[in-house]
Amino acid sequence: LHQRALEQERLSSLGLMAASVAHEINNPMSYVTSNVDSLLQDMRDEPNLSAPLKEYVDDVLPATLDGIKRVNSIVSDLRRFSRGGYEGYSSYDFNAEVRTALRIARIQLGHVRVEQALEEVGQVVGRPRQIVQVLVNLLVNAGQATPSGGVVRLAIRNEGALVRVEVRDTGSGMSEETKRHLFEPFFTTKPVGLGTGLGLSVVHGIIKAHGGRIEVESELGKGTCFTIDLPKVPTLPPETSSGGNLRAAGR
Ligand code: ADP
Ligand code: MG
Repeated sequence: LHQRALEQERLSSLGLMAASVAHEINNPMSYVTSNVDSLLQDMRDEPNLSAPLKEYVDDVLPATLDGIKRVNSIVSDLRRFSRGGYEGYSSYDFNAEVRTALRIARIQLGHVRVEQALEEVGQVVGRPRQIVQVLVNLLVNAGQATPSGGVVRLAIRNEGALVRVEVRDTGSGMSEETKRHLFEPFFTTKPVGLGTGLGLSVVHGIIKAHGGRIEVESELGKGTCFTIDLPKVPTLPPETSSGGNLRAAGR
């Protein structure tokens, strides 16, 4: 019941509007993204480009693509934020989703050294797309907080019935003030246009919905470590387990 109340609160009129705007933006953005992407690929394969066109290949189109990707990530933050997270659990290959998340976050981690310590976890029950979103949000934050040459480390471990995920960076760290407000929607210390302040509230909501927990350790100037404990087979809230969406975990 308390969950329901929180969920209602989240679906404020602002949230609903954000969701519908995000939905409208999403469709055109997906073909804009793929068109610009394939234009760039095709032009790269072209041997005899004139100087102005070469500038498009080297600078203009990659910068455009970066802009498009930023819009896409803001839109997907908005959609996650305004969507409830209880239906549609399935059994999925955890490590495959970890690889997906690393691929999606790759560009935002281009300037750092990415270390990976990934144990084989096997099948896990939950919403794989949301888990990818959690990992991407944490990895992108880590990348944004860490200067060139720093390290972002992703570790995945089996802890009995839990998966432990650690995202550690050697970046800016956080003040006590930031730590206190971290998981609140719209809290951001980033300049307008760079941060929506939704990433970690989405992460928090998704982890809670999966019956997990998230903790943060951070020291200013040293870096930050987010630790998530995720049950491999969550005990679902009543409204989910009666929904008939759950497929049994493999094995
Ligand atoms: P956004 O990234 O859009 O600002 P988030 O909810 O993802 O929103 O993060 C909220 C705030 O938490 C960030 O603005 C930043 O101040 C802080 N933060 C999150 N992750 C890190 C990190 N790895 N290192 C330092 N600060 C962080
Ligand atoms: Mg963020």
